[in-house]
Amino acid sequence: MLQVARDQLKHYFGYDHFRGGQEDIITSILTNHNTLGIMPTGGGKSICYQIPALLSDGLTIVISPLISLMKDQVDALRSYGIDAAYINSSLTDTEIQEQMQGARNGEVKLLYIAPERLEAPTFQRLLQETPISLIAVDEAHCISQWGHDFRPSYMKISSMLNHFSEQPPVIALTATATPEVIGDIQRILNISTEQTYISGFARENLHFSVVKGEKKKSFIDNYISKNPSESGIIYAATRKEVDQLYSSLQKQGINVGKYHAGMTELQRKRAQEEFLFDNISVMVATNAFGMGIDKSNVRFVIHHNLPKNMESYYQEAGRAGRDGEPSDCFLLFSPGDIHVQKFLIDQNQHDTSRKSAELTKLKAMVDYCHTEKCLQGTILHYFGDHRPGYKCGKCSNCIDDRESVEITREAQMIFSTIKRVNERFGKTIIAQILKGSKSKRINELRLDQVSTFGLLKHFTQQDIVDMIDFLTAEQFIVLTESKYPTLVLQEKTLPVLKGQETIFKKVARKPVAIEENDQLFTQLRTLRKQIADKDNVPPYVVFADSTLREMSAKTPSTRE
Ligand code: ADP
Ligand code: MG
Ligand code: ZN
Repeated sequence: MLQVARDQLKHYFGYDHFRGGQEDIITSILTNHNTLGIMPTGGGKSICYQIPALLSDGLTIVISPLISLMKDQVDALRSYGIDAAYINSSLTDTEIQEQMQGARNGEVKLLYIAPERLEAPTFQRLLQETPISLIAVDEAHCISQWGHDFRPSYMKISSMLNHFSEQPPVIALTATATPEVIGDIQRILNISTEQTYISGFARENLHFSVVKGEKKKSFIDNYISKNPSESGIIYAATRKEVDQLYSSLQKQGINVGKYHAGMTELQRKRAQEEFLFDNISVMVATNAFGMGIDKSNVRFVIHHNLPKNMESYYQEAGRAGRDGEPSDCFLLFSPGDIHVQKFLIDQNQHDTSRKSAELTKLKAMVDYCHTEKCLQGTILHYFGDHRPGYKCGKCSNCIDDRESVEITREAQMIFSTIKRVNERFGKTIIAQILKGSKSKRINELRLDQVSTFGLLKHFTQQDIVDMIDFLTAEQFIVLTESKYPTLVLQEKTLPVLKGQETIFKKVARKPVAIEENDQLFTQLRTLRKQIADKDNVPPYVVFADSTLREMSAKTPSTRE
């Protein structure tokens, strides 16, 4: 049977081989099982229903949420010589009647339809009069309240299925693989776990990086000036940021375009085409850009802001390197972006359980930014593909050659502090206590009485916050979801507090206790100057950020 499928693949699409996952899914469908296929964006989900559609006698119904995508898909199929049609609100009634007629006459093999239309009487009649061989539900996560893109109209699918006396097999496809979403799709569409196929999530050619503590604008300028003719996308959170980045890059003579919902449809369409045809190399855009564009040679995707969840991130970053060539995905992290995302969730989501689900997703996104594990591995893990100890060897964590130092003692102090204040405070206060800060809040709350007060005074406040972020990403601590989030200890901390387990963290260099010793500072300054002058840093002299900050704080006049 599969040889026939392979022949069709070659005949219609010109491909020699199925990609990972496609074969299993197609076999499952051809043996009449309801099937769920989970593959990342660009993985090749369409072929999983298009080939079975070609191999069966009746009509295949494809439920798809995006009107713009429908037309593209149908045009593409027609260009391969496959009879396809679509029905959505962009068509006139007469046009709809024509498409229906074609479907009834057996002139159409695949009929794409928007979920809103499923209950229309004409469509109902079609279902009764025409043999249906397959029902494909594209972007199936839209059926789940847990998904990032829930569409109430997708609920109509299950009532449609109930109308069949003999139900044709259903194939559901999505790029979302969180357990809640998978569970919903399986339950609503009646698909078993055995017939659920997750595949192809690893994108070996993508080099993921999280960039922290650098000026975002200079990072972008720098990267683009080093890769002047490469095609890439820069995602920013707001129209305003898009406009600003766009004009700044344009001033530098970069061949840049922009895309956001504030532009007219025509402007957007033009920008998209210019990018597709390589007339512009860099596209600065909000997340409105990219749905359904299939540009193979995108060499980099830079996220100027934190995305709202891993699903969006992987989908957007995954637009790089579709041709399989090495490509870069940078996420420029700043803690302020977390507040922006929380604010947006707060503004837009009023249902409490949905809100809490979105906050949980955001948390996973933030943990991704603070983890020291392989970034590709972390993404795979999130999507249900668990590979303990996996190292892609290319992401910013895998190639991070900073020294790992033991921070068990520091972690113990952080845990003890959280415990001593009865888990009532967030990371700033905890860091201030350990730093021995004399801030107003510390005084007011008499937190200088806590026994760990000042025990980490040789670190900067930021170093301590970094450690707390890291311990949160490693799930030793969780941050509550209340308006004023507080740090709460997890059971995992017990063995650490008892000294049975050690914790390591990458740092530029082990921070040294710098006493208030002017002579030492003078020596360090001289040394640093020498190093800077020679631009040739001996490997054994590296300054911790904390040391540098303390130095410059104490001697502002000699700051370089
Ligand atoms: P998805 O819906 O999973 O995002 P698509 O179905 O749009 O992905 O396919 C993405 C691209 O991969 C398309 O250009 C498609 O033609 C191509 N593709 C799919 N299957 C194969 C295959 N077996 N061999 C080569 N290219 C393929
Ligand atoms: Mg698709
Ligand atoms: Zn890695």
